[in-house]
Order: sequence, then C-alpha cells, then structure tokens
Amino acid sequence: MRVEHIGIAVKNFSVSIPLFTKILNSECYKVENVESEKVKTAFFQNGETKVELLESFDENGVIAKFIEKKGEGIHHIAFEVKNLEEEMARLKKEGFILLNESPKKGADNKLICFVHPKETNGVLIELCQQVVENQQL
Ligand code: ZN
Repeated sequence: MRVEHIGIAVKNFSVSIPLFTKILNSECYKVENVESEKVKTAFFQNGETKVELLESFDENGVIAKFIEKKGEGIHHIAFEVKNLEEEMARLKKEGFILLNESPKKGADNKLICFVHPKETNGVLIELCQQVVENQQL
C-alpha cells in the first residue's frame, strides 16, 4: 500500500500553512472543510505523498482533543487502497477495530476508514480510496 498522505494536527493554519510551504517548497493546493470531523484540511503535494494539515474548527472536535492530549504533530498515516470495502472486510476479519463500519467521505475526493490505534502500535491508520469524478457517494 502506498502512503497517500500523512495527517498532521496543527493549532493554526495561519502559522502552519506558511511553515509547510517553506518546508516542502510547494504551495498548499487545496483547503477543504470536513464537516463530519469538525476539521479543516490543507493539502500539499510532495512527490508521491501528500501532507494533510488538520485544524479543528470546534473545541470538541477530534483534532482539538488530540492536540489537547498530545500537542501538535503527526495524527495519522493514510494508505491508499484500491477497494476500501474489501480492505475493511479483510482487516475486520483479522480482528482490527474499524472506527467506521462503512466507508465515509473524507477530504480530497476520498472514501476513508480509520483503524483503531489500540491495535496498531498506537498509530492511527487511515485507509483511503480515490473517488472517481462524478461517482455517486
Ligand atoms: Zn487523512
């Protein structure tokens, strides 16, 4: 599985977008809200892998809580899969806990699913599948 992106929890886009523009020497190409997660996302293309910055717009959102507990930093690693439902069924069979029962809509035209970090050495893993343009969700 290719690493599609690395998700990084940040407090403030106005600080972190210029910071990562400098680090990666490329411009942020997309800022998008994911209402269900109460999060704003900002994407950078870095070779084959993207960097996804995550800023909470709700003090009770998952990213706000993450930062409160652990501070800013790497939040998740996202692997690209061809068939998300198949991969979810396989991991479920292997005994992993999935944080959502069916694929849900993520940022950047993706269907996503998170695997509970309890069974993955503390690493929050996102599986994502590219949505083909005009595909019904
Ligand atoms: Zn992500």
